[in-house]
Amino acid sequence: ATPISVTVGIGRGARDGVLIKDAEALERLEKIDTLLIDKTGTLTEGKPSLQSFSVATGESETDLLALAMALEQRSEHPVAHAIVSYAESRGSKTADISNFTSITGKGVSAIFDGKTVLLGNPALLKGQAIDITGFAQQVTDLQTLGHTVMLMAVDQKAVALLSVADKIKSSSKEAIVQLQQQGMQVIVLTGDNAITAQAVARQLGLDDVRADLLPADKFRIVQELQAQGRVVAMAGDGINDAPALAQADVGIAMGSGTDIAMHSAHVVLVKGDLRGIVKARSLSQHAMKNIR
Ligand code: ADP
Ligand code: MG
Repeated sequence: ATPISVTVGIGRGARDGVLIKDAEALERLEKIDTLLIDKTGTLTEGKPSLQSFSVATGESETDLLALAMALEQRSEHPVAHAIVSYAESRGSKTADISNFTSITGKGVSAIFDGKTVLLGNPALLKGQAIDITGFAQQVTDLQTLGHTVMLMAVDQKAVALLSVADKIKSSSKEAIVQLQQQGMQVIVLTGDNAITAQAVARQLGLDDVRADLLPADKFRIVQELQAQGRVVAMAGDGINDAPALAQADVGIAMGSGTDIAMHSAHVVLVKGDLRGIVKARSLSQHAMKNIR
């Protein structure tokens, strides 16, 4: 039977928007020594907005914005929403595309007018051997500001740059400071690039950042740390976090995130407020003290 103190702890959590799904998760929370934390939508609001849009010499801004809009209307990714909102605010039309494909952790592609269109992170274009030197300086400058930069290519030619930025949640800093004071090692995991990720992490006083990760990489990092004897919590919101959330000793999903993340996790922070992790740990400590 579940000890009464555990039931009480779970009830207290629920009252404060910290949903702890089972007694075992509450028991494990106090033992966590490592917190892996996703950047986009977890440390940040996950509602990026467009910061810059520029096109290569001789290209039409109007046409390329319509093309970007057409691709991103079919994507669920937060950066897609940022691009679509911007295009709408400019009164952009949308282009007629086919064969839309989503390339997890990288971007999107489609066919327009018989040509292959790619829109995604610089790595997506580089992987296709597309020359991006014309945009390289701008890419680095914007990433250093903490922006996430996307490039668009048509028929193997880089034609446009778009960048978005995402606000850090006002509650993130306090949560991170408190967890670090408790001796927790905090590591940022992100599909975003290293320069952008470090710029964001620095604002939170975090220096351990693992960037350019695919969902399978996040999962593998959880496993590796566990194999080293760490007791690992993972906090995330996306489809890309789900395997890692399920593998972690305690998976913590944002209530603002995807259903699959919430299903895979043991704890759900209803409002996505990371101070809920501090709360959950203190509930765990109380409950376990009463059992011992
Ligand atoms: P994160 O949760 O850090 O955003 P993802 O793995 O979801 O990580 O995505 C990694 C990167 O791939 C994004 O930062 C973005 O640059 C690019 N990307 C993903 N989806 C899209 C999309 N629909 N359009 C353009 N770029 C995308
Ligand atoms: Mg995310």
